[in-house]
Amino acid sequence: MERLRAEIDKDDVLSSNIDSKQPRKRNPSIILNDAPNNSSMEAIQLAIMAHTGIDQSFKLRFQFSGSKPYTTHCVFEIPAQDFRILKRCRKIPIHWHIYTLRGLFHLKICGNCQSFGHTARECLSSEPTCARCADHLLPESCDSCYISCVNCLQHNIKYGTQYSLSHSVRNKSFPCFLKQIKGYKKSRDYS
Ligand SMILES: [Zn+2]
Ligand SMILES: [Zn+2]
Ligand SMILES: [Zn+2]
Repeated sequence: MERLRAEIDKDDVLSSNIDSKQPRKRNPSIILNDAPNNSSMEAIQLAIMAHTGIDQSFKLRFQFSGSKPYTTHCVFEIPAQDFRILKRCRKIPIHWHIYTLRGLFHLKICGNCQSFGHTARECLSSEPTCARCADHLLPESCDSCYISCVNCLQHNIKYGTQYSLSHSVRNKSFPCFLKQIKGYKKSRDYS
């Protein structure tokens, strides 16, 4: 009995700790485009630090193939104060070549239904939607002569808005995309 009460008391402390905890914002991300594969991550980080004067290395979140042969895009998560410095120093010399750094928004866009927030692998939709014309077909087989954004179309139907539809779902300058970027920025600490 004593032991049980002690357990409950312990749980109370635990749950009150959880309740009082504020949701923490994540650090913003930055992407180094087309970093040379023959440079180690340590060398890349040292080059960035030497060029910017930042005195700590960053957390590497992930890497993926670059747009040129033998290169990699590197995504780092960094504290807000370093993010501001890195945004000012957009060009970083590594091994006598200049590489570009820029802020990155991780937005998931489904390659199947074109919605935001999940990937094609996680998609629950049974039929594909074309990213170009909003019809239910694979983008490869699209021969439509008009462009229509399915995300803005659905928003208009649901909320009675009058968003223009004549753009691809991948176009970052339209309300569908801008709203997602706004939501993403709110979830990160840029202060
Ligand atoms: Zn989907
Ligand atoms: Zn289409
Ligand atoms: Zn749109």
